[in-house]
Amino acid sequence: MTSVSPGRAADLDPRIEELERHIQALMQELHQARYEQRQEALTDALTGLGNRLAFVDAFIEAQAAAVKGSPPPALLLLNLDGFKALKNSAGHAAADQVLVTVAMRIRSAVREDDVVTRLGGDEFAVLLPATPQSRAATVGNRILAALEPNIDLGNNSVRCGASMGLRIAEPHHSVEDLLQEADFAVEESKSEGRNKLKLFDPATLHARQLQRQIVGELREAIRSDQLVLFYQPIVELATGKIEGCEALVRWNHPVHGLIMPDQFIPVAEATGLIAELGRWVLRTAVRQLREWRDNPATAQHVFSMRINVSAEDLQSLEFVDDVSEAMAEESLAPELLVLELTESAIIQNNELDRYTLASLHRLGVGLEIDDFGAGYSSMGYLRKLPVDRVKVDRQFVKDLGKDPSQLSFVAAIQEVIRSCGLEGVWEGIETAEQADALRSIGCASGQGYYFGRPLPQAEFTEQLGRQRTWPA
Ligand code: C2E
Ligand code: CA
Ligand code: CA
Repeated sequence: MTSVSPGRAADLDPRIEELERHIQALMQELHQARYEQRQEALTDALTGLGNRLAFVDAFIEAQAAAVKGSPPPALLLLNLDGFKALKNSAGHAAADQVLVTVAMRIRSAVREDDVVTRLGGDEFAVLLPATPQSRAATVGNRILAALEPNIDLGNNSVRCGASMGLRIAEPHHSVEDLLQEADFAVEESKSEGRNKLKLFDPATLHARQLQRQIVGELREAIRSDQLVLFYQPIVELATGKIEGCEALVRWNHPVHGLIMPDQFIPVAEATGLIAELGRWVLRTAVRQLREWRDNPATAQHVFSMRINVSAEDLQSLEFVDDVSEAMAEESLAPELLVLELTESAIIQNNELDRYTLASLHRLGVGLEIDDFGAGYSSMGYLRKLPVDRVKVDRQFVKDLGKDPSQLSFVAAIQEVIRSCGLEGVWEGIETAEQADALRSIGCASGQGYYFGRPLPQAEFTEQLGRQRTWPA
């Protein structure tokens, strides 16, 4: 062991002190460097705002405070509208300038202790500690207002609004959950026309998730015979005889039970599945008509099959061939099939639609406008299009029997249809009074719960065998 003599120890003291000072200075420098490094790591280099890491930091801190009893934080998530297009047209430098300006504007619209961050690209997140929803919405709208003025880019100026989602953090939220739900609200804002604030709504999320699930399952459903057709009679008002039936599709879902068409037709239309679905409906309905004509119990009724056709079907080049083949395969005359087309489908009226309509008309199948009066109600096209029937929307029948002036209104519509050389079918007839009123002004045919609800194939077949007139 080495011993230090007292004299040498006195010599050493000042050197140790100096060493200690030096170490302290080094430690401070290290701390500073670490602090700066950390700050740099938390900062978005372009805008000087916090970055994703800073957001996570602030979120963890705010959630910890919430656990101790302070109100939860609110997240405002923003996506700039049309930023990609702007970047493509104005270039990277201009796009960066827009991001910097937006960052400054957001910063100036919020309080000092609100955490403004850029998560990446054109995505900004503002975390408002301990903020109730109403105040967060006010702040959100203030930000949107701050983004309103044009941004000067030197030789031109651009407007850059934002789609914004608001979500109050829940105790169970991870940072990913919170961002995901706020992002869902951003997407909702985008789909509602952008440049607005949307609150996260769990019910809408659930509906969207169901829709997504439906898309995944619908293709399989068409192939594995989960779709079924229900049939509803269309009745000649003067005689009560059946003159047609409408095929209405339902989805017999193994878990959710019977799903109505309103729930999945729009999904099928939006995803391109409608063509396959339409073909299935066409084939199934036409085959069914053949069966009823061949069945001695039902052959006494001579009636046509109506199927609903989507706007997308008219856009398909094969549609006319599909129809013609389906009728030929079952040896049925084309006029035994009537295609119901909505006003909005017909009114698009581009070259292809007009060509398809003309071809179908030449083929000899019946063409009927569905839900007439529900939408555009332009009478002009009634004369121009090759249609031969008009199915009037049920809103006009609804008040018949309640409001006396409604009958003269309905009579006027009936007169317009007649003077265009067309036949009218009145849908949504639910009472005997409504049927009588329509009959009294010479309306030809009707459809509705009064005559019969849409029924599954077996029940409808049984009714055809049993009944001569509707109602029985
Ligand atoms: P739509 O073509 O207007 O069909 C008539 C709808 O009114 C049917 O609803 C029918 O059940 C209902 N309805 C019938 N009588 C009455 C009544 O007296 N009162 C009331 N309140 N309603 C009545 P559904 O079956 O839910 O069909 C809804 C829509 O789904 C249809 O409206 C049609 O646009 C569409 N759709 C149904 N099947 C198909 C299909 O095979 N293909 C396509 N593309 N669309 C279809
Ligand atoms: Ca219809
Ligand atoms: Ca209709």
